[in-house]
Amino acid sequence: WLARDPISRQAALRPTTTALRDLTTGRALAYADLETEVRRGEALLRSLVSPGARVAVLARNSVHHVSLFYACPRAGAVFVPLNWRLSGPELAVLVEDSAPEVIVYAAEFEPQLMQALEGRAQPRLFRIGETDAFADALAAARPAAPSPIDPLAPAMLLYTSGTTGRPKGVIVTPKTAFYSAMNYTFVGELTAGHAQLCDVPLFHVVGLLAVMHGSLLAGATVNLTAAFQPDLTARRLADPDLAITHYFCVPQMVQSLLDAPAFDPAACRGLKFFTGGAPMPDHLTLALAEAGIRPSNGYGMSENGTILGMPLDPALARTKLGSVGVPSPAVEIRIVGPDGRDAPDGEVGEIWLSGPSVTPGYWNQPEATAKTFSGRWFRTGDAARRDADGFYFIVDRWKDMYISGGENVYPAEVEAVLIAHEAVAEAAVVGCPDERWGECGCAFVVLAPGAALTEADLLAWCDARLARYKRPARIRFVEALPRTASGKIQKDILRRTLAAPQT
Ligand code: ATP
Ligand code: MG
Repeated sequence: WLARDPISRQAALRPTTTALRDLTTGRALAYADLETEVRRGEALLRSLVSPGARVAVLARNSVHHVSLFYACPRAGAVFVPLNWRLSGPELAVLVEDSAPEVIVYAAEFEPQLMQALEGRAQPRLFRIGETDAFADALAAARPAAPSPIDPLAPAMLLYTSGTTGRPKGVIVTPKTAFYSAMNYTFVGELTAGHAQLCDVPLFHVVGLLAVMHGSLLAGATVNLTAAFQPDLTARRLADPDLAITHYFCVPQMVQSLLDAPAFDPAACRGLKFFTGGAPMPDHLTLALAEAGIRPSNGYGMSENGTILGMPLDPALARTKLGSVGVPSPAVEIRIVGPDGRDAPDGEVGEIWLSGPSVTPGYWNQPEATAKTFSGRWFRTGDAARRDADGFYFIVDRWKDMYISGGENVYPAEVEAVLIAHEAVAEAAVVGCPDERWGECGCAFVVLAPGAALTEADLLAWCDARLARYKRPARIRFVEALPRTASGKIQKDILRRTLAAPQT
């Protein structure tokens, strides 16, 4: 367990070291400044709400996310970072579930927020626009000595991406947050003197618990940005004043970063480059290693944060291509086969997880919580195998697997073959009912700009690379794939498209 957050300690240890820099506003806070900001936040929250109240933020990455993340547990409140990419009705689901008493929001997201709040009890609102009402309130608050935190009380709700249904509010406690961050600190080999470029949003587990909390735990510097923008990101990675050592982005962004005119491999030599959240195509891992970067593909989820991570070694990236690495220090992992027994090395099973970084459960959802736990084990719903050297490979979501002619097919394997074709930009495969084989695969394919390809060409490509039962029975060329606000492909929508009558 845990008695205090890392900020008060870092403020004593390295008061003048830069903890945070907001690259949009140019505002920078040394560790001592951040500690003062958190103390003000605690005082302000105590004057506004009673313990247990939810305090939400709807804004691009900001200093307020960070000060509230630390101030909420000190004040006994629950921090709720909201996804600004959501539409009004999507946001309404999260607002209804978390029922925040305070919402700090950016003016640019006011329309969605007002739509989401319609017909509900009005929370206390702080608007950030030309003027920043929350910064003003903080400036007026009198900082007091920090209160002890309850390591086991809910400190935060982190909503899942909603890839497989409605987003679930994952309960994070100071204890789970600490171990989660520490897992990343180890995987990322982070220490004081390092600097993160944080393009990932602070409403997701990677941004908040790994990149932000993990770096501040280590006494490093976090540079916050408004969003990933290929050319701007490339310039920032090469900026000698920022001296970025660590970067994370989702696999979907890697190609556009490498293609950005400002991308300079010489300036990124040795950069620790993390990817995760979705399958990482092998050719991108190789392209990063080729550019002299140290790639690390990892696996994690809102319910725990960092779970597995590749050691930062370009040679291993090549020999264990496609792997998400080895378990981080505070997680215990099992690969459990369909029969409920531990699968031998090389065989596919569901990843089960145990350890101090695992969530105690979902907010307002005791049934979903009960269903995902089996004693002390959390069932991830993801399929994976472990090789004889102890390296893990994510196969797919357990429930996306389909059975064709009695054989298990993991769509991710088929998608990897499709994406390897140079005319294919994106691909998603789902199982659909088939009279002869029980189920068969249907591929949705987005072509690369300007590329031309026929269904027969692509099927021939698959034939040369996949067992017959894995070859998709049908290929549909589409303009775009349905994605969640965090960029993950929504297969439920694709399955529904297939079930709908054809026009
Ligand atoms: P929901 O739980 O609402 O359906 P979600 O599972 O996408 O959404 P997150 O917690 O953001 O929400 O994402 C975690 C999931 O992302 C994992 O369970 C896994 O399926 C997928 N994932 C994470 N890392 C990887 C990776 N390296 N390769 C493949 N898939 C990954
Ligand atoms: Mg999930």
